[in-house]
Amino acid sequence: MTVADQQIGFIGLGKMGVPMAANLLAAGHKVLGFDASPNAAAALRSHERFTWASSALELAGAADIVILMLPDSRIVDQLLWDDGLAAGMRRGGLLIDMGSSDPMHSRANEQKLAALGLRFVDAPVSGGVKRAINGSLAIMIGGEAAAVAAAHPLLEAMGKTLVHVGQAGAGHAVKALNNYVSAAGLLAVCEALVAAEKFGIDPKLVNQVMNSSTAKNNTTENKVEPFMLSGAYNSGFSLALMRKDLETAESLIGAMKSHGEFAQSCTSRWREAEQTLAGGADHTAMYRYIRDGQ
Ligand code: NAD
Repeated sequence: MTVADQQIGFIGLGKMGVPMAANLLAAGHKVLGFDASPNAAAALRSHERFTWASSALELAGAADIVILMLPDSRIVDQLLWDDGLAAGMRRGGLLIDMGSSDPMHSRANEQKLAALGLRFVDAPVSGGVKRAINGSLAIMIGGEAAAVAAAHPLLEAMGKTLVHVGQAGAGHAVKALNNYVSAAGLLAVCEALVAAEKFGIDPKLVNQVMNSSTAKNNTTENKVEPFMLSGAYNSGFSLALMRKDLETAESLIGAMKSHGEFAQSCTSRWREAEQTLAGGADHTAMYRYIRDGQ
């Protein structure tokens, strides 16, 4: 079967899903898309290999491989088990969950899908909208070797650094832990910049120093100037999704009976910020929350 013969189903065409599906199309795949928002994926609709499905169930019956890029495990589980997506998929079909879902749910989903003759791979991504657009996402993959091999050509069209980290759920575990470390770094940078500014130092200069010193991290390099100090707060990754990832990491750390006091304290700070800032805030608005003295 060639790339062009395979029908890829893609559910969840939001900020990340649209550029990821665009890269599948660019690699020659046929994409059948669906999103709960009827106006989603406007940018893809005119592509000759893109078709819009009228429902997730229609998509399930027509696709060889189904990719999910949805907000969280609650929505994934609802679609799979309550709305009938799993039951509607073709025998031998492959489900790839690329959203940042909960690793415990993903492990269970692999087992339940196997009982229906379906294969499962978790392949969450890191790199944000910018790297989704240029096809250079980091992808952490969990699943059986044969299922991962089947998913690989599609993942290669969307990402650059692909690492098979373990069995089903392992990709989602690594993703949640990665985002915990990233969120903790971002929070520390915000606290440091605000304290420096109150001491009378230009936060832009502080960030410049950090970028040539040991405090350098993804926030100092890629977020402080374009999204925080500029006041734009529009990186494309919501604060609510970051809070969800932190809660996933905190619960995983707790379930593994590992030390998690710092994760708990970090998660509650992000939760407070989400409750205080206006609905739909970008995660970089954490800077505004800290600066305004909350
Ligand atoms: P988004 O909110 O922009 O997109 C999610 C899409 O899912 C929306 O279009 C929504 O309408 C759709 N959706 C929700 N429920 C649905 C349902 N029941 N059926 C069909 N469609 C449904 O979110 P996003 O930023 O694209 O993030 C998607 C996933 O990727 C999340 O798990 C997020 O944590 C993860 N992620 C996001 C980024 C980022 O920078 N935005 C980076 C890495 C990972």
